[in-house]
Amino acid sequence: MRLLAIAALAVTVWLVTATQVPTHVRLPVGSVVVGAIITQPFGCSTLDLEPFDPLCPWHHIHTGIDLAAREGTEVHSATGGIAFLGFDSAGAGNFVAVAVDTHVRVLYCHLAAFRVVQGQAVTPGQVIGLLGATGLATGPHVHLQVNIDGRPVDPAPFLDS
Ligand SMILES: [Zn+2]
Repeated sequence: MRLLAIAALAVTVWLVTATQVPTHVRLPVGSVVVGAIITQPFGCSTLDLEPFDPLCPWHHIHTGIDLAAREGTEVHSATGGIAFLGFDSAGAGNFVAVAVDTHVRVLYCHLAAFRVVQGQAVTPGQVIGLLGATGLATGPHVHLQVNIDGRPVDPAPFLDS
C-alpha cells in the first residue's frame, strides 16, 4: 500500500509539473532588450548605492542584471504572467513586475514608458515597456530582477535554463 501511495504521489507531481510547462516559458536574458550590453551582472557590488548585504565583501549586492541600450528601446517580457505596474522614485523608477506564478516575479525597472496596463496578462516576448532611466539610474538601462518568494536570484541561469 505504501509503495502504491508513493507511486500515486509521483504521478501527481509529474502531472502538475507537466501541465505547468507551457506557461513557464523562459526566454534568455538577451531577448529582453535586443542588442543590449550587460553593464552590471548579478551579485556582490562595490557600489554604495546598491542595497546592503552583510555577506558581500563590500557589503553591497546588485540584485539583478543591468541591460544598457538606447533610451526608448523596446523591453520584452522573458516570461508569461500577470503584469503589475509601479513607480519608485528612489529606486526602480517606473517598473513592471510580471508575476509568473505565486513564487516567481520578474521585475523590469527604470522604464521610460509602459506598454501594458495594470493586471494585464502578458506572453513571453511581448513588449511591456520602453527602456529609460527613471528612478535611481545613472543612464538608460533596464534593471532585470528575478525574485523567488521575495528573494532575488541570478536572472541569467534562471532565464537561460
Ligand atoms: Zn541594476
